[in-house]
Amino acid sequence: AEEDEILKCWEGLGYYRRALNLHVAAKQIVHRYNSRLPQKYTELLSLKGIGDYTAAAIASFAFDQPQPVLDGNVYRVLSRVFGIHQPINSSAGKSTFKQLAENLIDLRAPGGFNQAIMDFGAMVCTPSNPKCESCLLKMSCYAFENNSQKSLPVKKSGRQKIKRYFHYILIEQNNQIIVEKRKSSDVWKGLFQLPLIETVTATTTLTRNHLKRTLKDKIKATNLIKQDVQELTHQSIQLNYYKANWNKESDSLLGDYRWADIEECEKMAFPRNLGCFVRDNFIHLKKVKMLKNHG
Ligand code: SF4
Repeated sequence: AEEDEILKCWEGLGYYRRALNLHVAAKQIVHRYNSRLPQKYTELLSLKGIGDYTAAAIASFAFDQPQPVLDGNVYRVLSRVFGIHQPINSSAGKSTFKQLAENLIDLRAPGGFNQAIMDFGAMVCTPSNPKCESCLLKMSCYAFENNSQKSLPVKKSGRQKIKRYFHYILIEQNNQIIVEKRKSSDVWKGLFQLPLIETVTATTTLTRNHLKRTLKDKIKATNLIKQDVQELTHQSIQLNYYKANWNKESDSLLGDYRWADIEECEKMAFPRNLGCFVRDNFIHLKKVKMLKNHG
């Protein structure tokens, strides 16, 4: 499949890099491993998008290799049972937990061991109200003995979300709108978007100074028609949607912009909130008008 086709299937799910990585990994498996998923942990790790956690999970669950899987459940169980106060999101902490898990793993049934400890964390040693009274490990559990279930595991406070201000401009002419493909390694890479202006502070008015060189002289006044916020893991993006009129005297499009009709737009993958906007304000709107015109 082409990248655009994959992104269209993934549209609205977020974490688009996963779809792109999966695509690259599939090609790597075909070319390097003769279309068979490799079995060794280090080979799995060499595939695009597969990190420690996924490589260990595949290697142990599918191929019985003694690789410990460390997810939030496992960190919680180990930190409580063994009284480890190192932050689970620090590199020193990660290596301590990994070493401990490597020592504990059952070499005869590594996949079963990993799944059991994950399930134990999900069902017994839960984040709040762990079921300590009926827990098999309570006689040897540090947290139970020291009443420190609430303070374990320790986690360093994460970084603050970055605030960003995106302004999308819907420019329509002859049942087509202007779109471009996001190319930078920024968020939503590979997805389509309307012409975008990013400002460093919040504003609801786009002046000529805000407009990119490629848009100046090309459009007439912009009108804000909708506002929205999209929360991502590390970013909070305020979305402002405008409509603008195309300057008819200006015939050529500059930069990476291109015109797209309804049919093309329906096949394109847009970031979730922007996709809704494009459907409501162009695709569906135009279709309804066409139906009315046809009586
Ligand atoms: Fe978790 Fe409580 Fe069991 Fe300790 S005794 S492992 S804190 S459920």
